[in-house]
Amino acid sequence: MPEEFKNVWSNITDDEKDLIFKYNEGYIGFLNQVKTEREFVDYAVPILIRNGYKDIEEYFSKGGKLKPGDRVFQNIHGKSLILAVIGSEKCENGFNIIGSHVDSPRLDFKQKPIYEENDTVYAKTHYYGGIKKYQWFSVPLALHGVVITKTGETVKIVIGEDEKDPCFIITDLLPHLANEQMKKTLAEAFPGENLNIILGSVKSGNENKGENSNENEEVKTEANADKNVLKSNILSIIKNKYGIEEDDFISSEIEAVPAYKARDIGLDRGIVGAYGQDDRVCAYASLSAILDTEPENIKKTAIVYFSDKEEVGSMGNTGARSKSLENFIFYICSLSSPDYSDFILRRCISASHMLSADVTAAVDANYDVQDKKNSSYFGRGVVIEKYTGSKGKSSANDANPEFIALLRNIFDSNNIFWQTGEIGKVDMGGGGTIAQFMANLGMQVVDCGVPVLGMHSPFELVSKADVYYTYKAYHAFYKT
Ligand code: MN
Ligand code: MN
Repeated sequence: MPEEFKNVWSNITDDEKDLIFKYNEGYIGFLNQVKTEREFVDYAVPILIRNGYKDIEEYFSKGGKLKPGDRVFQNIHGKSLILAVIGSEKCENGFNIIGSHVDSPRLDFKQKPIYEENDTVYAKTHYYGGIKKYQWFSVPLALHGVVITKTGETVKIVIGEDEKDPCFIITDLLPHLANEQMKKTLAEAFPGENLNIILGSVKSGNENKGENSNENEEVKTEANADKNVLKSNILSIIKNKYGIEEDDFISSEIEAVPAYKARDIGLDRGIVGAYGQDDRVCAYASLSAILDTEPENIKKTAIVYFSDKEEVGSMGNTGARSKSLENFIFYICSLSSPDYSDFILRRCISASHMLSADVTAAVDANYDVQDKKNSSYFGRGVVIEKYTGSKGKSSANDANPEFIALLRNIFDSNNIFWQTGEIGKVDMGGGGTIAQFMANLGMQVVDCGVPVLGMHSPFELVSKADVYYTYKAYHAFYKT
């Protein structure tokens, strides 16, 4: 064990450096396409189909058995996804699983979001996940999501990503009038009910008639006669563009996310800055790792799990506390074992190994909140984190050293740069991942992912070296 874990950049060849930068070009392209859990599923499914994966629903409707080398996926309500590559070993030997999450902190529209006040139209939001609310003021926002109409039609919405699109904003208070606000604590100074997004301000009959004037044309209804004349105009723009009514927001999921593109950070371009890298960095690394593994080289069946709702505690039928993964393992066991019984399923789960692929906090030189002897650093590779939780390891999956020893062996024999990590100083705070919920099923689980600076902010940072070696680590895990 080295006294300090090695820095990637000073221990690689120029060719390896090129591989790191090339891999991260693909990653940046992905970040610019995928900003929500639904967009992740929409991105991944066509790639899987092109790579020979079949929807497991086909096996349910048409029958058939799975054999080594076969590839299947299950789409969980459009917001979570699980895939498998069937290995040559029998199910009772257990599976190799990597599980990440594809939701990120954001601002969700409320069910009745749109209102007019002071000659301005706003949308009311409810924040999702652990955010520092002040960070979301004065940030250009884009709207992503779906509206399901009463007749069941799904309308997908993305506004604010194209440079020609308008974007949206929550106003912050001017410093000139912030004497009272500045005396409050950060938690008190930015109430959640102030997270109201400006949607528009053009008064009826006074639109700036540009080339899209027919799109923006106001509807002359009696609604325009009342005081909500600006709101009516906004609703008519929405109706013209998307064919949806105000009531349709009742059955919608609209997520306001930063409208920024992913960018290289630093003169030497070693860092990726972007929204939502927790945890789409691990999702991308685990997806590319399985796609780069030859199906015929898979011994233990490989599973990649992309969960939803991690940022709100893994609740709901798309979260990791649901039966989704357990059900999927059952499907795989029953479709691939000629003599399937519940015994085989239970043996499979308890013999399985899982990397909980989630980010951790990298040491930040600006803040003294970490044990520098035990926390992870930018540029030292993928992080093995034995435990998360808070206080006395409360709510932690405290991984078994037997599994960590196995990983040390796999990573070292595959020349993976890796380090250990811990989220912060004892009693400073804490956090969790999906690890504990999977460990409850009886499998071996350890957290293993990318260190992040500015986690949960609208613009998170990762080291390109760590992204690449996390991908390499996941790849090595699946080959084992
Ligand atoms: Mn996470
Ligand atoms: Mn998180």
